[in-house]
Amino acid sequence: MSSSSQLPTRPVQSLEMGRYQWGQSPDAAPAPDVKDPEPLALASYGLVKNYSKGKLQVNVLQSVDFEIRQGEFQAIIGQSGSGKSTLLHLLATLDEADEGEIFFEGNRIDNLPASSRDMLRNRYLGMVFQFYHLLPELNMLENVLMPLMIRHGVFRYWSQKRANTKRAKYLLDLVGLSHRLNHKPRQLSGGEMQRAAIARALIANPRVLLADEPTGNLDRKTGADIMEILRCLNQEQKLTIVMVTHDHAIASQADHTVQLVEGRMESCTSNDV
Ligand code: ADP
Ligand code: MG
Repeated sequence: MSSSSQLPTRPVQSLEMGRYQWGQSPDAAPAPDVKDPEPLALASYGLVKNYSKGKLQVNVLQSVDFEIRQGEFQAIIGQSGSGKSTLLHLLATLDEADEGEIFFEGNRIDNLPASSRDMLRNRYLGMVFQFYHLLPELNMLENVLMPLMIRHGVFRYWSQKRANTKRAKYLLDLVGLSHRLNHKPRQLSGGEMQRAAIARALIANPRVLLADEPTGNLDRKTGADIMEILRCLNQEQKLTIVMVTHDHAIASQADHTVQLVEGRMESCTSNDV
């Protein structure tokens, strides 16, 4: 596994935009009543992604700019096929863009070698999928521990097994699953599997949680329970969350909503939550 020293540390000028008003010199002291915004957690500029379907080229993302600041809960809303999952997978470094740049905490990440992107994802980015993606042969405790097994390797994982297990149990308790530690995914409901998937995404203590339609496969009540967990993580643990959804009622529970329409960011709204 690569070490974190492989991540570039160059500060990015463009990410400081928004701190000063137009016409104000960067050297001038900021106006006293202007509160500095939180630093950017994750950002993309000019993202383009095309897929080929036979002879046809599908332009899924067409120069998408996206920014989320540390501690924010932001929803990306859009109809089915508008490119939401594609964008989230690019932000999570699960896929590569054709054009554009992605920054994590001010450092460019889209151009890192694959091994560094794997390390970055494993340590700093937690991913929650609509269909949970739990491993069927492992129980809940083992599923939640899996990212640490991948990160640490067998020897270090076993040497820290007691502490790792304690944290996994804490997280399963946090999402209300302490009574399901030894159950396999097939023995659980959709809502319980999504809770376990959230615990798994949190095990490595990520700085950003990326959730792709986390309530999309659940009934309304169970979806509301999942949203309660996400809101709690954001408000009490200050976790930065990017959530993709096609559901306006779900999106309105985030701080801000940006709208993706046919591969373009169209609008941004602040929600009263
Ligand atoms: P959303 O999540 O908003 O429903 P997606 O990002 O999954 O949309 O997909 C956007 C478009 O890209 C769709 O037309 C989809 O068919 C297409 N697409 C997504 N992934 C692939 C792929 N691997 N190969 C070809 N086309 C794809
Ligand atoms: Mg999708």
